[in-house]
Amino acid sequence: MRIKSGKLPLHSPPNSADNFDWTSLENDVSRTESHGEEANQRTKERRKKSQKRKAGRKQAEHYKLSMMLEMPYDIIFEILSLLTPKDLLSMTRANRALREMLTSVQSRHIWRVSRASFGMPECPKDIPDASWANLFFSSRCQECGSVFGKHLQPVFCRRVCLNCARSHIFSEVAFEDLFPGMDPIIMDLIPYSNTGSSAPFYPRNHKRYFWDTSVYKMSEQLSNLQKAVHMQQPSARHALKNFKAEATRSAKEVMKGN
Ligand SMILES: [Zn+2]
Repeated sequence: MRIKSGKLPLHSPPNSADNFDWTSLENDVSRTESHGEEANQRTKERRKKSQKRKAGRKQAEHYKLSMMLEMPYDIIFEILSLLTPKDLLSMTRANRALREMLTSVQSRHIWRVSRASFGMPECPKDIPDASWANLFFSSRCQECGSVFGKHLQPVFCRRVCLNCARSHIFSEVAFEDLFPGMDPIIMDLIPYSNTGSSAPFYPRNHKRYFWDTSVYKMSEQLSNLQKAVHMQQPSARHALKNFKAEATRSAKEVMKGN
């Protein structure tokens, strides 16, 4: 560095590189690093404490719920019947004892009372209550796992995203093209909806809409029974007749109220 006269200064300014106090800079850096480590340590400790508190709270809740099971059954049932189906669903996930109790046959009436009180459609006989509730309160598509499972299809016992609804739901007029060679009687034996895959954007209409995998499943069961009839197996006709009657009843049961 030159001064105005053009001569070099006799002494370098105190902050020049030659005179710079590197020791103090190193001390500063090490102080900053140690402060950073302390801060990290403090954050870790805070996080640990918060996790401990949360685990404690969860344990206390589980303990309270387990204590509830010590009460007489009629009182437990009375209390549980006051809860919403969503709360009951959460309780099945709280611990094993509660799950076993709420999924037992004896608990079906708790769910029934809760559904009736909160205006939820009745659960078809062949479907577990917790699965039925999960259908209403989950947000995931049950086909592809997407979080956009906005389309609830109680008739098909499914919650799906729009893409999956469009790829699985079909109108009765497309049956022959989609399932060549299959018996159209299948459509009388499986549940159907009056809204297509674009629901709820379009109103209900007179057409029947089906879920494709139900067709394959029904076709397989029906073919086995029909084969037995062709082979003239004993009571095969009776079995086929009973099967059709039961399938029609079950489809009506699922469609009831939906
Ligand atoms: Zn999907």
